Amino acid sequence: MVDVNEITKYLPGFNCGACGYKRCDLFAEALLNKDVKLEDCPFLLRERFKENYEKLKEILKIKGKIKKEEKYIGVIDGYEADFLLKPLPNECSCRETLLIMDKKELKVGDYIRYRPLGCPIPHFAKIIDEYHGFYIIHVVGPSHRITGEKIEYKDVGIAIVVAFEGIVEGKVPEVGKTVKFIPKHCMMQKVHSGVVVQVEGKRVYIEGIDLKVF
Ligand code: SF4
Repeated sequence: MVDVNEITKYLPGFNCGACGYKRCDLFAEALLNKDVKLEDCPFLLRERFKENYEKLKEILKIKGKIKKEEKYIGVIDGYEADFLLKPLPNECSCRETLLIMDKKELKVGDYIRYRPLGCPIPHFAKIIDEYHGFYIIHVVGPSHRITGEKIEYKDVGIAIVVAFEGIVEGKVPEVGKTVKFIPKHCMMQKVHSGVVVQVEGKRVYIEGIDLKVF
């Protein structure tokens, strides 16, 4: 009988969170539930852990726990994406970096209503950081309408989404690569494109966001 401990002992033990889970034992549990793939731990693909990787593959195969390669298809456009972009651990959505034209006073902690350039759906977000005139946000709605939560939003009109940051589900891209991806919180499940400018384990930062995908 294979349990979490049996799997955990072959994982790198760094508890680094690059797989999207805070600790290796939590990742082991997700492996047993078939929620993730072995390759979601980037270290297992390194030479140093090659034997552990093979051993884990063997154990999970016997137990029928190998997750099949998934395809990520946009619902609204039917395009195939390279990967799904999930929020960073314990966050409610991927991080988006916005260029807001409306010069009204905004500060960290404010809630805003905006329509991303090229997207027909108004979004609701919380500002979590500011960086040289750009705002980093978490998307929080329109799902708040369903929960009935009352929050004051500042309407800022159209905003340009310049970057996304999150955790890759699928094959981790290289820096400099142009990629197609679906942000997990995207209400239209539409394929976005952009250029990868930073990779740290499974955490990626993508700039030059475009909703036009060819
Ligand atoms: S990425 Fe690998 S080493 Fe880091 S926490 Fe996840 S399983 Fe452990």
